[in-house]
Amino acid sequence: MYKHIEIPKDGQPIKRKGKKLAIPNRPIIPFIEGDGIGRDISKATRRVVDAAVEKAYKGRKRIAWMDIYAGEKAYELYREWLPQETCDAIKKYYVAIKGPLTTPIGGGFRSLNVSLRQILNLYACVRPVRYFKGVGSPVTHPEKLDVVIYRENTEDVYAGIEWKKGSKEVKKVINWLNKSMKTNIRNDSGIGIKPISVTGTKQLVRKAIEYAIANKRSSVTLVHKGNIMKYTEGAFRDWGYKLAVTEFRNKVVTEDEVWDKYKGKAPKGKIVIKDRIADSMFQQILTRTDEYDVLATPNLNGDYLSDACAAQVGGLGMAAGANMGDYIGLFEATHGTAPKYADKDMINPSSLILSAVMMLEYMGWDKAAKLIDKGIAKTITKKTVTYDLHRQMKGAKKVGTSEYATQIIKNM
Ligand code: NAP
Repeated sequence: MYKHIEIPKDGQPIKRKGKKLAIPNRPIIPFIEGDGIGRDISKATRRVVDAAVEKAYKGRKRIAWMDIYAGEKAYELYREWLPQETCDAIKKYYVAIKGPLTTPIGGGFRSLNVSLRQILNLYACVRPVRYFKGVGSPVTHPEKLDVVIYRENTEDVYAGIEWKKGSKEVKKVINWLNKSMKTNIRNDSGIGIKPISVTGTKQLVRKAIEYAIANKRSSVTLVHKGNIMKYTEGAFRDWGYKLAVTEFRNKVVTEDEVWDKYKGKAPKGKIVIKDRIADSMFQQILTRTDEYDVLATPNLNGDYLSDACAAQVGGLGMAAGANMGDYIGLFEATHGTAPKYADKDMINPSSLILSAVMMLEYMGWDKAAKLIDKGIAKTITKKTVTYDLHRQMKGAKKVGTSEYATQIIKNM
């Protein structure tokens, strides 16, 4: 029994059977609408997903959406930003989807997104970035980009361990560091802590390599700033390589091995494990775009890199994502609440719709996923697009969020 969540009567819960999820024909899927443009893109996403599932399975399968609450809507209902029953519902039903949530800058409450990821141990933020033909782009060859970013989701400077300048806590920390560890930190500093663990790194890199194997991808690149942050980001790289050659020895070769043993050409069928320093990665993804495939990164690098990659293929309106744990999948767009566009029926919903495509694939409902993909591709090829794509495309027709969703449904 929940306080404000209504369980759909005709729905069935997804259950775990051994190492797999058993998906019924009427799965209950918790849905957080989100703040700001969350309201626009959520409506469009549900319509498109329902239409695709109906078209693919002719009524045999249907999603039973279950509204759950976080952010502004939760505050209205519960006087809390992230109610316990929201986390409980995601834990119980395994597969959920959410719109973006507002996070105040420089104070106020902690990021609800970060909290959700930590509470539910959704340790991998998965962000595929690929190009849809016809979309305008700031680069000459956007079609060369086809990467899947695996970003660590629970630690790094995002762990939320920080103290404000002048606080009792920060004085204690600075005092201890300066006295016991002989550091020289200014007394007027704020302090944040950057934990990166073997556990966090291994579970993330393992998931990235498993994905690369299952999807026949060519390489996994560990992106780090280990030349400067040796014991956190440098260790991320070292632990990543170690895991790759210990747990996946028959499936992978390291980049060094490719040069030492195979004259610079990777043996067929093997996944190359390589690493790049983060700043170099940002220029390589522009200059040697098609040399990169799956990218595994600590939290902060991955956050920056995924927005930068999204810009390369047309912007955040096209950027899908998922927060994954061992079994739970919480699907969400890469972008935020873009408040200036909220409730204007303007914004591009492809980001959340493509996140829903990832969700359908995770559920094994590939037929519906493919229909949506096709619907989006065709709508863009026909040049019927929202404002963000319109400004980058010649001769396109600009439509609002809801009309764009209608066109996707027509074009499935
Ligand atoms: P943002 O909401 O991501 O928006 C930044 C810009 O990106 C927009 O002004 C727009 O650019 C473009 N954009 C974003 N979504 C788009 C879409 N669906 N279609 C087309 N263009 C899109 O970033 P922000 O303004 O920095 O952040 C606003 C709030 O969101 C903050 O409170 C932040 O903390 C929060 N946030 C939440 C999440 C999350 O829930 N996972 C993630 C990031 C940020 P143009 O104006 O140039 O068109």
